[in-house]
Amino acid sequence: MTEPMSEPFLNIDLHLHSTASDGALSPTELVEFVSEQNVQTMALTDHDTTAGLAEARKVAEQKGISFINGVELSASWENKTLHIVGLGIDPEHVELQIALDNLYQQRQLRAEKIAAKLEAKGISGALEGTKKFAGDGLLARPHFARYLVEQGYAKNMQKAFDRYLLKNKPAYVSTEWPQMSDTLDLIRASGGIAVLAHPMRYKLSKSWQRRLFTAFKAGGGLAIEIVCGRYVPEDIATSAGYAERFGLMGSVGSDFHSHTEYGGKPGRLRPLPAHIEPVWNLL
Ligand code: AMP
Ligand code: MN
Ligand code: MN
Ligand code: MN
Repeated sequence: MTEPMSEPFLNIDLHLHSTASDGALSPTELVEFVSEQNVQTMALTDHDTTAGLAEARKVAEQKGISFINGVELSASWENKTLHIVGLGIDPEHVELQIALDNLYQQRQLRAEKIAAKLEAKGISGALEGTKKFAGDGLLARPHFARYLVEQGYAKNMQKAFDRYLLKNKPAYVSTEWPQMSDTLDLIRASGGIAVLAHPMRYKLSKSWQRRLFTAFKAGGGLAIEIVCGRYVPEDIATSAGYAERFGLMGSVGSDFHSHTEYGGKPGRLRPLPAHIEPVWNLL
C-alpha cells in the first residue's frame, strides 16, 4: 500500500545522525542536506553523545531551520536493548554529561571486545580500522560494519551486520546499558522529553510490546516514534494504535545515517496520523 502522491511530505524530522555517532555526514553536511530536503524543524539525535549539537545548531540557524537539541540514548530493559530519544535536552546538564561519559567508556570497552571476537575469526586490525571510520565520533557497530566491507569480509553493511554483528553472530557483545527507567529520569532531569525510538523495530511479541509501553509510560515516557525510517505502513498504524491506547504522543523521524545506509530519507516521511497528538506541541 502506498500513499497517494499528492499527500504532502512532512517537513519535520526529529531523528537524525551525524559523524558525532554513526552517521556519515558531519553535522554541517547533515543540516545542509536536510535543508535541501525542505526540512524546517529538525532534531540531531546522535547515539549517546551531544557533541554534534553546537555545530548543527549554528548551521541550522543560518538556514532558517528550527533546531531541537536531541540525543538517542542506549538503554536496557528486561535484558533488551532499547533506544530512547531525548528531545529538548540541555546539553550542558551535568548529570547528562556524566552519563554520556560513561556510555562513551562503555562503548570503548565493547569495541575492544568486538575487535577481539573478530580477531578470533581471523579478522585483524578491526579496532584501529573502526576508529579510523569513527574519527572523533563515538564507536558504534556501523563503524565495524564499514571496516568489514572495506576489508572485503562483507559485500555491504547489511551483510556485515547479518554475518558478524547482530545478536547470536560471532562478534556480538551483549551489553548492559543503563536501565530504561534511569534513562527516562535523566532525560526529564536534563529538561528533555523522552520518546521511545522505533518501537516496531525491536522484534517484540504483542505481549512484550504491551509490557514495554506500560513500563515506558510508567517511567515518565511521553511519546513514541510513529513515523520512522524503515517502517512499513502497517507499523505506522500499529504504533499509532499503541499511542492512543497508552496515552502517548507521536513523533516522526527518518533515523537517517547516510545516503546509502540504514535509515530513511529526511523530507520523505509520511505525516503523523491526524488523531495523534504531535510531540512537537511540547517543544
Ligand atoms: P550500536 O548502538 O553501536 O549497537 O549500533 C546500533 C546501530 O547499528 C543502529 O543505530 C543502526 O545504525 C545500526 N544497525 C542496527 N541494526 C542494523 C542492521 N540490521 N543493519 C544495518 N545497520 C544496523
Ligand atoms: Mn545508528
Ligand atoms: Mn535507534
Ligand atoms: Mn537512530
